[in-house]
Amino acid sequence: MQPGARGTLWWRALAWLALGIVFTATHWPNLHIEWPMRGGDKVLHAIAFMILALIWWPTGFIRSVPLFALVAASWSILDEALQALPIVQRHAGVEDAVANLCGIAIAMLVIIALQRDPRTPGHAVRALAWRMVIDRPQAWMACAASSALGAMAGGVILVTTQSLLRQPIKPMHSALIGATLGVAVALHATIIVMMRSMEARIRAQRCCPTCGAPGVDGPACAACGAVVPTSTWMVPFARSIGGVPDRHWIRVGLVPVSIAGVVLVLIMAVSIALSIRRIEALEPYLGIEVDPGMRLMLDAVALAVAASAGLWWSRRAAVRIRAKEGIECLACGHDLRGVVPESGLGRCGECAEPFRVQPAGSVRQEG
Ligand SMILES: [Zn+2]
Ligand SMILES: [Zn+2]
Repeated sequence: MQPGARGTLWWRALAWLALGIVFTATHWPNLHIEWPMRGGDKVLHAIAFMILALIWWPTGFIRSVPLFALVAASWSILDEALQALPIVQRHAGVEDAVANLCGIAIAMLVIIALQRDPRTPGHAVRALAWRMVIDRPQAWMACAASSALGAMAGGVILVTTQSLLRQPIKPMHSALIGATLGVAVALHATIIVMMRSMEARIRAQRCCPTCGAPGVDGPACAACGAVVPTSTWMVPFARSIGGVPDRHWIRVGLVPVSIAGVVLVLIMAVSIALSIRRIEALEPYLGIEVDPGMRLMLDAVALAVAASAGLWWSRRAAVRIRAKEGIECLACGHDLRGVVPESGLGRCGECAEPFRVQPAGSVRQEG
């Protein structure tokens, strides 16, 4: 069995389960919940559809990002429209549909931001490690356990902090935010730890990136016949940002962060202009007030857009820098044109940083 095949099946089961839960919750007849703030249900709508999209993307049913976004958006609108059926005694609202779309927009920005350039050193190993991790039941159990602990810890910490600071915010509200943050932090940490140990194992055992068979020796895998370049197991740069050595930190770090900041400021300006974010001095000229829940969600979309713009810029800069791999040393800038590489892997004569030789025809256009 190919690595990742079993994991994909489990992932698909999880996706259908999540879809069932969200559909049941949005169509539960005559459901009324007392929300701690006006528009709180909008936040829940957005979170539900964001998580749904994030769970469905790795199932691999749809591999094109625009098509996936279109299907997800259509589903969320259909889900809302079905609530107009008399039998469920709910009401379909444009605001709820907008909330659903906001959640999907955030999920799509996350998906785009997490897409990696296959030219990044270590990409093949990372992709194989991911497929091997999701195949292991222990990994799923570790994620479930750490999410539960993270939710409890996050909820308790935020509620305690809120009560100590005497903030005018309801305990249920802060428990929900704390639990969500706790789950995110715990899941992230668990996945990073599992991925690191799996990547180390793959490098140590020289596993084939296609079939996962260990002990590849030579230009091709003995088990599946796939061509495996020696540079596959090359350890990525020790100190790196975005897969390029950190001496490029201004281009791949500082500039993108500044761009994200500028985008955020621009969006906030628009939000003030549209009186979504209210300024007291302008009060006499403002229109209808947007629900706090709706505003919270629009702010989340704004943050996601800004972060995504910064990441996009950073990745584009990294691609441009990596296009020079094999021509000049990425770590020290030394000219490498005289260096003769062995089986696709060379070393800088100045700082000994390894570099891969781009196979003929795959040299990227700068742009
Ligand atoms: Zn193989
Ligand atoms: Zn060098």
